[in-house]
Amino acid sequence: MNKQKGWKEIPIGGIIAKAGTAKEYKTGDWKILKPVVDRDKCIHCLQCWMFCPDLCVIVKDEKIVGIDYEHCKGCGICASICPKKCIKMEK
Ligand code: SF4
Ligand code: SF4
Repeated sequence: MNKQKGWKEIPIGGIIAKAGTAKEYKTGDWKILKPVVDRDKCIHCLQCWMFCPDLCVIVKDEKIVGIDYEHCKGCGICASICPKKCIKMEK
């Protein structure tokens, strides 16, 4: 696999014209805030996993085990959807 490109290496204006190239970019370095899960409060309902548009919630054995920060864009959907309010968006 090619080395993934960060935000400084994408074309000026952020235009990525070629389709199917998400794996080539570290889209996670575009974010301002990152989701942090309070594992003590999490009930592993997996709603954050279902709603994440970038498949960044990492699940193993039906439990949340982490966030793929290299590709998470910090949209905050996971935090807004979480029924236990155990995801905080932090700098
Ligand atoms: S939505 Fe909230 S409670 Fe459900 S798995 Fe995700 S972090 Fe845990
Ligand atoms: S902030 Fe957005 S991209 Fe990142 S894990 Fe949550 S829903 Fe996915």
